[in-house]
Amino acid sequence: MDNLLKKMGYHSFRPGQREIIEKVLDGKNVFAMLPTGSGKTLCYYLPSKIMEGLVIVISPLVSLMNDQVTQLKSQGERRAAQLTSMQSFQERMEVADKFDQWNLLYLSPEMLSSTFVQNLLAKRSISLFVVDEAHCISQWGHEFRPDYQDLGSRIKKLQSPPVLALTATATKEVKKDILKQLNMEDAFILEQSIDRPNIYLEVRHASSREEKLDALLAEIEQLPKPCIVYTGTRSAAEMLAGKIGFSESAAYHGGMSAEERNLIQTQFINNELDVLTATNAFGMGINKPDVRAVLHMQMPASIEHYVQEIGRAGRDGKPSKAVLFYSEEDMHLPLAFIEAEFPEEGWLGKFVLNPAMHGRKLEDIRCYTEVSDTLFRMIKAHLEKEGLVKEGKIVYLDNTRELCRKLEKRYESRRMEKYRQLTSMQKYVQSHSCLRKEILSFFKEDLLNKPDPCCSACGNMVWPDEFYQAGTKVEKSWQRRLEELFFPEGRGRKYEQTGRNNS
Ligand code: ADP
Repeated sequence: MDNLLKKMGYHSFRPGQREIIEKVLDGKNVFAMLPTGSGKTLCYYLPSKIMEGLVIVISPLVSLMNDQVTQLKSQGERRAAQLTSMQSFQERMEVADKFDQWNLLYLSPEMLSSTFVQNLLAKRSISLFVVDEAHCISQWGHEFRPDYQDLGSRIKKLQSPPVLALTATATKEVKKDILKQLNMEDAFILEQSIDRPNIYLEVRHASSREEKLDALLAEIEQLPKPCIVYTGTRSAAEMLAGKIGFSESAAYHGGMSAEERNLIQTQFINNELDVLTATNAFGMGINKPDVRAVLHMQMPASIEHYVQEIGRAGRDGKPSKAVLFYSEEDMHLPLAFIEAEFPEEGWLGKFVLNPAMHGRKLEDIRCYTEVSDTLFRMIKAHLEKEGLVKEGKIVYLDNTRELCRKLEKRYESRRMEKYRQLTSMQKYVQSHSCLRKEILSFFKEDLLNKPDPCCSACGNMVWPDEFYQAGTKVEKSWQRRLEELFFPEGRGRKYEQTGRNNS
């Protein structure tokens, strides 16, 4: 194992890696919570070199899989592949044709559910089933990515190989949920503190949105770069990039095409941009070590999201900063998003119980009611699972009323859970005591070693010179220079917010 590690170019294991890999090689189920940037990839990559059979990695984002496979290939790896919805038929067939050759295969949960992939997997013995960013099971499984909920049964169908669940942030409840859904309650558990001592925490209050924007722009101006600013909406990301100046910043959000997003992400990673203004669509799995600051123009929906997002700062271990800008009106937006995530009370009764709707296509309902694509997808998946929608049509069962009530109850409890999470975020913003302690207590952790500097509540801090020196100078590519010449107003098109989805 140590020789293999050296062959991969590493001198020693980082904390946690050896224990995890040993248990994995022993065939045990493992749940590991390691902070961002601590080297989770190695925990399955190294075993994939030793174990016989195929290691499957379930990953939530296509861009994340692309990055990981590209990175492994650039290190000379030839036996890693991915199957994603973004690949052409031809590309997928190439992966399928050489299916015996792969040691490591990245898949999205949706891909795993496809018959095409299941037929391929039936030909191989699976040595390890990895769920990367496993907190997504809890965050997304219940709502708009129903395939996450099926992972447990998929694992069983694959003859129950050992499971490795990896995450950087999971509360006790989320951990329990992951263990239960993946049938791995017997797992070896390795948890490291979620604390990132090199990230200074700050909350800045403003009395109005205008004051907040001014303070944010002033902060961006004097910060070492690169930095990320998270906004609550796509239009805010565009607006802010415009205000900062398009030559040194760009917006990133889910309303842009995959090509545009890839381009901006690559420019940011290659130090061609100082500031990236983004919605929460950006960042999962981004391996950029020198981000000096993560600012929030709008607080996220939960402490878990906040920890994930600020974790993108200072992966190189150098001093970094996380500043959350807050004004009283900021609660409206996350509250509206929660409301938009679930059908309003009585919605199911109005449509699914309505005799006039029986036998009609569920799609038809969309002209009577205003639901986002995401919400519609979630409702459809739930109704199909309960047998209330078959081949796209609403069917009436003897227990339709009961089933609707059950679903309504589930939505209500999820909605309440979201409110609770938002309340914890609000508590953080309004805290007068140590912010680090506040975050850790949310994860039921104690603050054992208080770093200096710690947070804005723990007193004024003087930034070490190292912080400013750690900034990376932006090198503009010729493409970027040309863009600036031809599009002085900025290349990013103005986004009209149409849907309720903010990502
Ligand atoms: P995570 O998934 O936990 O965010 P990654 O697996 O992307 O982190 O690893 C982050 C960085 O750490 C990568 O550049 C990787 O090469 C490096 N790394 C991983 N393990 C080691 C190790 N044992 N020694 C040195 N560097 C390591």
